[in-house]
Amino acid sequence: MDHCPSCSNQDSISIVSIESIPVFCNVLWPTAQQARASASGDMELVMCRSCGLLYNTRFDPGLVAYSPNYENSLHFSPAFNQFAEGVARRLVERYDIHNTEVVEVGSGSGDFLSMVCEFGDNTGVGFDPSHDPDRKPADDRITVHAKPYPTEHPVDAGLVCSRHVLEHLTSPLELLRGIRSSFPAGARTASYHEVPDATYMLEELAIWDLIYEHPLYYSEPTLNWLMTTAGFEVTDSGRSFGDQYLWVEAIPGETGRTCEPPDIGGLTRAASEFGDGLRRVVSHWNAKLEHMLDTGPVVIWGSGSKGVQFLNLVPAGSGISAAVDVNPRKHGQFVPKTSQPVISPEALVDLAPAHVLVMNPIYTPEIAASIVELGLGAEVHDITFQP
Ligand SMILES: [Zn+2]
Repeated sequence: MDHCPSCSNQDSISIVSIESIPVFCNVLWPTAQQARASASGDMELVMCRSCGLLYNTRFDPGLVAYSPNYENSLHFSPAFNQFAEGVARRLVERYDIHNTEVVEVGSGSGDFLSMVCEFGDNTGVGFDPSHDPDRKPADDRITVHAKPYPTEHPVDAGLVCSRHVLEHLTSPLELLRGIRSSFPAGARTASYHEVPDATYMLEELAIWDLIYEHPLYYSEPTLNWLMTTAGFEVTDSGRSFGDQYLWVEAIPGETGRTCEPPDIGGLTRAASEFGDGLRRVVSHWNAKLEHMLDTGPVVIWGSGSKGVQFLNLVPAGSGISAAVDVNPRKHGQFVPKTSQPVISPEALVDLAPAHVLVMNPIYTPEIAASIVELGLGAEVHDITFQP
């Protein structure tokens, strides 16, 4: 990518470059050998000086081909389910989404779609090339098609939404314009889109959120600019899930507009300091982890993208015994490149770890409770601490 995938501007600020990271953080492998041999790619992260989008100039879409073994469902965690339910209820109430059709782009197994349909008595249609029919919730109100959103078909729905889709694309404007053009004239369809928040990543040095699968990182002004440019009228936007997520809500607006670039002044400084911050965080955790490993087995809790990226970026991470996950579909598989096994919380009893590293502090209360319940004396550490 030699120009901004959002606004096509070629002027950018260099942020950080990282060689050889796993292409897929959300694909685990059946054997340790396959995990070690799995594909890697490079990251050269820059920020567009015009619209503020962060993007990986070395992203190769050819390396990323989604398939049903792409496992990123977070719906096994009560904290995550509670959050998703809150979003679904708010959308149903705020936009009066009752007895209508709801469309979700990149719906995964369909868990969120199912919630919106339940709360508003709606029917749902999901589109997701990586959908595995065996994982669809038992809900007759929803249908999920294993293909991309068909922008050529008119869609007369009460809500079109996507969650954690736009950051995977190389031409987000094309999808958003496609969605907009699929609305019939006079439609009042509400839109909701949710992505990881780039401002949070930059300001909190949440460096584990930097993954190859995400070639794009949006901040609020950038996402709002993109929506407006695609022909939507933004009704609200903000951050959620401990400020880690960014969301935008919109209704159909005027199409074919040329919008002034957004104000990204505040982002530029955080972006220019991020590379140094990343190196500091990695060396901090490397030193701390070496010390922990001297006192007994260390495990990481969370085999999602944050956990996989921690294991791959921190050199001493190779000494970590296992990655714990509450999602039973992940157990018995192996982490890309560094090849730790993914185990259930119950399997910790045999391992008796001295330290448990928690990748996402939002889950710490539920993890600390599990450790006590299992009768373990392990020390629990939050990883997002800033040195
Ligand atoms: Zn741009």
